[in-house]
Amino acid sequence: MKIKKNIIIPITVFLALMVLLALYNVSTNKPKTIDLTTFVSQIQSEQVKSITVNNNEIDLTLNNGTLELVQKEPTDSLTTLLKNYNVDPAKIQKISVTVSGESGWSVFLIDILPYALPLVLIVGFIYFMTRQIQGANSKAMNFGQSRAKEFSPDQNNKITFADVAGVKEAKQELFEVVDFLKNPKKYLEMGARIPKGVLLIGHPGTGKTLLARAVAGEANVPFFSISGSEFVEMFVGVGASRVRDLFTRAKKNAPCIIFIDEMDAVGRQRGSGMGGSHDEREQTLNQILVEMDGFEPNTNVIVMAATNRPDVLDSALLRPGRFDRRVTLDLPDINDREAILMVHSKTKPLSSEVNLRRVAEMTPGFSGAELFNLLNEAAILAALHDQKQVTMADILSSIDKIILGPERKSHILNDEEKRITAYHEAGHALVAKKLPHTDPVRKVSIIARGSAAGFTMKLPTEDRKLHTRSEFIEELAVFLGGRMAEAIVFNEVTTGAQSDLRQATHLAKKIITEYGMSEKLGLRTFGEKEELVFLGREHNAKDYSEKSAEVIDSEIARLIEEAAKTAQDIIVKYRADMEKIVAMLLEKETIESEDFESIFA
Ligand code: ADP
Ligand code: MG
Ligand code: ZN
Repeated sequence: MKIKKNIIIPITVFLALMVLLALYNVSTNKPKTIDLTTFVSQIQSEQVKSITVNNNEIDLTLNNGTLELVQKEPTDSLTTLLKNYNVDPAKIQKISVTVSGESGWSVFLIDILPYALPLVLIVGFIYFMTRQIQGANSKAMNFGQSRAKEFSPDQNNKITFADVAGVKEAKQELFEVVDFLKNPKKYLEMGARIPKGVLLIGHPGTGKTLLARAVAGEANVPFFSISGSEFVEMFVGVGASRVRDLFTRAKKNAPCIIFIDEMDAVGRQRGSGMGGSHDEREQTLNQILVEMDGFEPNTNVIVMAATNRPDVLDSALLRPGRFDRRVTLDLPDINDREAILMVHSKTKPLSSEVNLRRVAEMTPGFSGAELFNLLNEAAILAALHDQKQVTMADILSSIDKIILGPERKSHILNDEEKRITAYHEAGHALVAKKLPHTDPVRKVSIIARGSAAGFTMKLPTEDRKLHTRSEFIEELAVFLGGRMAEAIVFNEVTTGAQSDLRQATHLAKKIITEYGMSEKLGLRTFGEKEELVFLGREHNAKDYSEKSAEVIDSEIARLIEEAAKTAQDIIVKYRADMEKIVAMLLEKETIESEDFESIFA
């Protein structure tokens, strides 16, 4: 498509010029061409008024005004010519003779252009074509250059620490880096060795990239950003040469920051995998190490890298003198979530009733990126409804959408399914309500969402790092509450509990094999997490005997059986409460926490 367009333009220009030329030729009054004998005889008979000699051409005007044209031999001048024809010199003297070269323009237009134009077009065409081909292959033409994006410090959209909410410890650490970039002298005079590398570690979306840019913004230095995966391509040796190029560029622009995002793409443990691309990665990594070692003590270049997999990084990267600073970014706690929401709501018109603290309460486990996404979803929703402001309702329904998937209103349950789903969800909710260590129920619904027919949403009241065995055991019972309710009420079970059972099994297995919470199996873990570098994913290697495997299976079965019994007892005992929940669900389809609590008041 693009090539065609480029050809059309020169062709149109060419055609237009041809037309112009033709018009020009027609419009000029063309003289009649005569031969030399006629010319001479006309002079003899004194018919000629004036002559203009124009290189090989002689233009003559007769007394009666007729224009004529004679070609002469290029070597002969007019005088020699007339002499050769024995023309009477007296007759010549009566004629006014002008000798002129044609004016530059007309020579160009008439004589040169018709030849030059096609030539220019052909050359131009070839140029265009090569450009096109190069464009397509430009990657191949300069693959040795790093493709790091450079952000200069004076950009308007500069990011500073103020744009990064929470992550206080990380910011504290990075203040040092900023200070060094601003006043390197202070440190060098103390004989201090400046950190060369800073490794940012944290879950996806916790603000690693953002923080690195904020450091550059605070220090007011250029920022070279490249992703680890961009070093490695199918050409062997590209990675290493890109690293070299990147560091050369950076040193020229010192002081500055090199930021290597997704470091684990190149920085994985060496010598543990197989395959060609792996060797390539090793070379790239070696080159990074070499470049970092090659810094002069006063090179004002700091290498920052981000990863969410510090466990797979090569230990050579982590030794002092390389990425010896490690900054960990945790998932935000409730205060940080509120702060992050605050930062991102600045650009959005929030209605006054929006309570960001409450939003923060309802979003445990959300990363900064997810909170950003949440507010964005809410803003989209508000715009969709032609509102002037983003309301709390928009935010709440965005939370549900993010956690549970979009509502499927078109997925209509028939009356029987509705009744079964209502009992199923009421079962979950009731068990959660009656057990002491579970999170409070926030919402129960029989509107289909994602793949589920209904859902019961619980909400932790606080961020917790530690969990107890009792909590896990009770959570198992909540998972099974749905299935038990179906069984008790209908004497029949459905496929609705499929994902509950899977989650319960998964949790039970973790309790036993990872947390060491089974007396029978003791204080040990089962299964070694092992990375399959060549497959790029993890795999649980079996590090226990067949006998243990049998015990694990029986323990999982026991935990789940006990949980089912707990759930069953509660449902039987509080059947009346469950009927109330079901009635309310069938009426309203979705129950919020206040209505839910009112049932038990
Ligand atoms: P990472 O690199 O850790 O995966 P990013 O830095 O790319 O995450 O974060 C993605 C987006 O999430 C950022 O552009 C920002 O909008 C938002 N975000 C993440 N953490 C924070 C934070 N602490 N404060 C403000 N915004 C944040
Ligand atoms: Mg990132
Ligand atoms: Zn369920």
